[in-house]
Amino acid sequence: MKILVAVKRVVDAKVKVRPLPDHSGVDLKLAKMTINPFDEIAVEEAVRLKESGAADEVVAVSIGFGKTQDTLRQAMAIGADRSILVEAEGVIEPLAAAKILAKVVEREAPDLVLLGKQAIDDDANQTGQMLSALCDMPLGTFASEIALEGGRLIVTRETDGGTQTVSLAMPAVVTADLRLAEPRYVTLPSMAKARKKPIETVKLEELGVNVTPRLRLLEVEKPEQRRGRVMVSSVDELLEKLKNEAHVL
Ligand code: AMP
Repeated sequence: MKILVAVKRVVDAKVKVRPLPDHSGVDLKLAKMTINPFDEIAVEEAVRLKESGAADEVVAVSIGFGKTQDTLRQAMAIGADRSILVEAEGVIEPLAAAKILAKVVEREAPDLVLLGKQAIDDDANQTGQMLSALCDMPLGTFASEIALEGGRLIVTRETDGGTQTVSLAMPAVVTADLRLAEPRYVTLPSMAKARKKPIETVKLEELGVNVTPRLRLLEVEKPEQRRGRVMVSSVDELLEKLKNEAHVL
């Protein structure tokens, strides 16, 4: 089984981002960037499937430019065998990302495509769903467990009410949720090893995908400041505050 894992370079979750002075976007000039956390989980799961003997190759793919190579090195330090970098500058919206990934799927013919459930920069939660539609492949979103049974993928999905288990024919698209796997600690030797693994670079023009944004960003604003919290000693006091101070009753 060959697994293709999509990894996106995003701002580190611990960074407190701010809008640009003209509110045209988020100021990322000096921000620490890293692999999208859900993609790191997806890579970990793919590598575990390989280590268990269920898969024989794990290929990481990313769409971006410049230091996106570092993100692919991170994926290879976890254990991906090789990488593909689709060079694209500017904003790549989920539909464009899905179209690009569909082209890579066409070239690589993987049995399983793993993505994160969402990228923590745009929080779109769309790419995996669009990719499965474009490739006409079965889809399992929000996966917390993946198993192979009789040539099918058994995917446990996180739902609002609990979990749901689906059986998918392969090739399939699966998106990783938080509980799918805990990413391993990446050691120095594995980082050194990752430096020797190959990254194939593909130019966007070679794929013939139109990535013109379909959305127009109007304005980025800081979230509203949270108001201080107060402890109340009784339900009556709570009702009184909701009525007379918060004016929500
Ligand atoms: P989104 O739909 O933007 O929330 O992204 C969902 C998932 O799609 C991410 O967790 C990644 O696995 C994948 N993805 C989105 N954009 C990219 C990108 N530029 N490069 C690689 N993978 C991406």
